[in-house]
Amino acid sequence: MKGSVHLFKVGGINIDIHITFLLLPLIFGFNYGLRGVFVIFFVFFCVTVHELMHSLQAKRFGVKVDQIILLPIGGMASLRRIPDNPKEEFIVAISGPLFNILFALIFFFPLYKILGPEDFFHPSLDTWGQTFAYAFWINPLLAFFNLLPAFPMDGGRILRAFLAQRMSYQKATRIAVQLGHIFAILFIFLGIRYNHLLLVIIAFFVYFAASQEGAQVDLRMVLRRFFVSDILNPNFTTVSPRTTIEEILGLIFHTHQEDFPVVEEGNLVGFLPRGEIIFALHQKGRNVTAGEIMRKEFPVVGLEHSLHEVHTKLENSNLRALPVVKEGRLLGMVTWEDIGRIYSLVINRAP
Ligand SMILES: [Zn+2]
Repeated sequence: MKGSVHLFKVGGINIDIHITFLLLPLIFGFNYGLRGVFVIFFVFFCVTVHELMHSLQAKRFGVKVDQIILLPIGGMASLRRIPDNPKEEFIVAISGPLFNILFALIFFFPLYKILGPEDFFHPSLDTWGQTFAYAFWINPLLAFFNLLPAFPMDGGRILRAFLAQRMSYQKATRIAVQLGHIFAILFIFLGIRYNHLLLVIIAFFVYFAASQEGAQVDLRMVLRRFFVSDILNPNFTTVSPRTTIEEILGLIFHTHQEDFPVVEEGNLVGFLPRGEIIFALHQKGRNVTAGEIMRKEFPVVGLEHSLHEVHTKLENSNLRALPVVKEGRLLGMVTWEDIGRIYSLVINRAP
């Protein structure tokens, strides 16, 4: 994400922070001194562990996690996909709030004993005792907010996982999206009523994130209905390992194709994605050949694969096109554009 700073890496997951988050210690430090800074860093810690719990569970189910980004309004783990098996989705969703609940359960009595009821039940930033209480209550609050049964909160995912066992996945999603919209409007109302700007900002985020969640599921459902064999374009251009970048550039201009299968004696021996062509052009000049810069390992798809599977492979490989093969023979290519075109055609006609 633009404007984010890399902090460190845990279990192969990048933890990044958005620069706007750095404003918080300044604002709180200015208003509340050291206690304000402590609370912000403590929130930062809780939110990071919460997101990390989601990410580690997601990784267990084979989902790639690119990064965890911390924004002033909360953390976000960018999972490549949400597991659509309801049981897996439930485990991934519950693991974040579960950390906050466990933390609260473990520290409730010790802190109550140490601070005494006076400080413990009156969290504020006025004294250190009350500041520790403040830090404590952040966890039950995070758990409560995240368990609201609406998208994009974790509770929305839990609700969908629950409903999806009783109705279609799409219908279950629609309910969680609508609840997300209802909560967002409620937050806006409460935010204005109680003069709480942050709540209004969160409300807008919740509203749009809920809509996006719905759109993603619609996309997936559409893509599942079509197969590579339905859309395969028989007209495509291949290059040989001896074709130069200069010649490939000419092909790009004439054919609109930007990624090329590399074929030798009828066999697919490599793949040349657009990114590699551009990189080689700038770094190695126009005389370098396809054979020197092609990828020798790359994913392929078959005619029987659904467009959903193609979409997942494209996302996981960071490629824009994939070769289609049958028994080692190259049949054509499928691209992001193909998927986008099918989606926009079908979704516009949908009732
Ligand atoms: Zn969460």
